[in-house]
Parts: sequence; C-alpha cells; structure tokens
Amino acid sequence: MLLRIALFFVLALLVLGAEDYYKLLGLKKDSSEREIKKAYRNLSKKYHPDKNPGDETAGEKFVQVAEAYEVLSDEATRKIYDQYGHEGIEQHKQGKGPRQNNDPFDLFSRFFGGSGHFGHHGGERRGPNMEVRIALPLRDFYNGRKTEFSIEKQAICSACEGSGSADGHVEQCNTCGGRGVRIQRQQLAPGLFQQVQVHCDKCGGKGKTIKHPCKVCSGSRVVREAETHELEIEKGMPKGVRITYENEADESPDYVAGDLVVHLVEGDAALGAQDFERTDGTFFRRRGRDLYWREVLSLREAWMGDWTRNITHLDGHIVQLSRKRGQVVQPNTVEIIKDEGMPVWHQELENNEGLQWGSLHVEYIVVLPDQMQKGMEKEFWGVWDKYRKKSGVKLDDAWGRPTEPIKMPNAEEHSEL
Ligand SMILES: [Zn+2]
Ligand SMILES: [Zn+2]
Repeated sequence: MLLRIALFFVLALLVLGAEDYYKLLGLKKDSSEREIKKAYRNLSKKYHPDKNPGDETAGEKFVQVAEAYEVLSDEATRKIYDQYGHEGIEQHKQGKGPRQNNDPFDLFSRFFGGSGHFGHHGGERRGPNMEVRIALPLRDFYNGRKTEFSIEKQAICSACEGSGSADGHVEQCNTCGGRGVRIQRQQLAPGLFQQVQVHCDKCGGKGKTIKHPCKVCSGSRVVREAETHELEIEKGMPKGVRITYENEADESPDYVAGDLVVHLVEGDAALGAQDFERTDGTFFRRRGRDLYWREVLSLREAWMGDWTRNITHLDGHIVQLSRKRGQVVQPNTVEIIKDEGMPVWHQELENNEGLQWGSLHVEYIVVLPDQMQKGMEKEFWGVWDKYRKKSGVKLDDAWGRPTEPIKMPNAEEHSEL
C-alpha cells in the first residue's frame, strides 16, 4: 500500500513536472497554427543537439519541443491537451498504441529536409542559400524598426510529409532496383559495344516509385509556399548589412535547407504623403556614422547674420541652426554638429557603451538674388559706389597684373635647358 502511494506520488510529480507545452514553445493558449509552426521552427534550431554538443539540457529541450509541437499541431490532440493536460495526452497515447513519427529528428527533417541534422555534421548535403534584397528608407536605419516580409520558397509538402505519396507507401523502383540508374549497351560498330550508365526513366532517377501520388504536391514532395519572417532593423545598422535566417532557404527532403540571407540596402530618398515621410532628414545623405545636408542661405543671411533655421531630423526632432547679427557664413562652409548623425550600431560600440551618435555635416550654400526691386538696386548701388570711391582697391593693380597680353617665346627658338 505504501509503495502504491509512493508510486502515485512519483507519477503525479512526473505529470506535474512536465512543462506546459504552450509555455515551452513561448506561446499563448489561443495561438494560431502558424504561430505554433513558427515557434517550432525557431526553437528546434536553437536546441538542436548538433548546435549544442555535450549540452544535455539543450538536448532534452529539443525532445520536449518536438513533443509539444506534435501535440499542439494536431487539432484533436490539442483539444485533449487543452482540456485534460499532460495526463490526457498520456491516456490518449496508451489508447492508440505506439505513435508514429515520435522521433524528434524525424520531425526536424520534415521541416528542414535532410535526415534531421545540420549540414555541417556528418557530410549531410546542404541546399543552396537564398538571398533577398530589401530596400528601406534611411529613416528606418536611424530609428530602427520591426517589420515583416514574405518570400515564396520551395517547402516540404506537409500533406505527405515529404514522401510524395498519398498513402505513405513508397516502393523501390523495379526497373532499376532502387539505384536510379540503368546500364545500357550501345553498339558503336558491329561487334563493338559500349556500356553507358543512364538515368532510370521510370522513376526519374529517384530509385523509388509511388502508386498514389500525394494530391497536394502531385508526388513532387515539395510545394511553393509563402513564408513570413520577422525583420528587425536595428538603429544604426550599416547599409548593405546581411541578416542570416538559418535553414530558411528552399527545402527538399533530399538535403538540409540552406540559409536565407536578407541584404538590407538603402532605398532612394523620396517624399511620402505623411508628415514623418516629409522631414528634411528624408534627404540626408549617409556616410558611415555621419549625415550630410545642404542648407541654403540668402546673401543677406550669409553676410549680415540674424537668422534661424529649423531642420527636421529623421525622427522628427528639430535641429536649430542660427547666427546672430554680424556673424558671417562664408559660402560652402561646413558646420559639424555633434551627436546629430546616425546612431552607432550596437555591434560597433566598444565595451557596450550607451547609445552614441555620429555628426551631422551642414554645408551652407549661399544664393545671390538675380532680381531686385528697382529702388532696392538703386540704393545698394549707391552704397557700394560710395565706399568704392572712398576705399576701393583695384585688385588687378594690387596683384600686379599687366594691361596687355604677355608674349610667349617662339617655339623654334632653342634655349638651353
Ligand atoms: Zn505531398
Ligand atoms: Zn528506377
């Protein structure tokens, strides 16, 4: 009796001790099928034993994640789990006898192809990487942004789990005996034969035949599918940065999926309709950590001072530039404003120092008026004339320039070097 009580406790502990499947996958109870898949994709890669050699905890997690996925991805077992928890699942399993597909590596291979291992181990074949280019406005590189993108790729058909067969039966090709190739004798000349190896045309070189092809993929084992990925653009990421999504390229049962590489580039600056798309910053130019801008001043402003300018930055804040009366700005002067450049990307920060910024370089362009009111022209002329007469200097004279052209020596005349 005591033993039975003890046993009961152990069982209860086992059941209680198992982690909640939703929690394990980092999901909420009302998560969609897509979210469950996504969670499995991420976590199974993270905890895969190939990636965590010698780490038993990771290995256990890998198994648990597969278990959680198997239960939650099936509508019937999910219902049982939601109502009766782990205990319900245990009973369900016993009632059905040994379940198929409970090998976590097998499940992994249904998602990423190959035999359930990563390509770097054991000479597993790896599919090609895929690269996509995404153009973003400079604003996103400045502010950072979380967004999503979708790409269409080849995915393992989930209806037949990559077998290509509607009933799960795959038979060895009887023409080639499963080798995928046949030996053919070709007569080159009377009495002269050559043996050539040719692709088996009955099974298309696969070595296997399927009587009832899967209706979803027509036996090809793969389908075209759109997949959505999250994309986080971090503040200050350099343009041209490449972000790798491991094993998210085209899938095939014959190899482990390669990586999807997202190439982030800066799009052409363009004015949008919304206020935040119409800042001056939209047209800033970026070089590394620094930003560049040209500000136009009138002749009066450049010469006499007494002006202010509100430049709207990439996040909408205002950088105010100004000069007091009497402060001259020479044309093409560059004013460097500290900490108004790009944020420094955290990966480029040393010792994890806090957020830092580059500089904003403002080049002043001075525009002269090409038209003036008549009275204005007259008055300016008068002022200039007065001071020219008083203290004007003839620069040609001051620099010693002649009034006549200078004669060059004749090319024929030889002078010694
Ligand atoms: Zn299929
Ligand atoms: Zn064959």
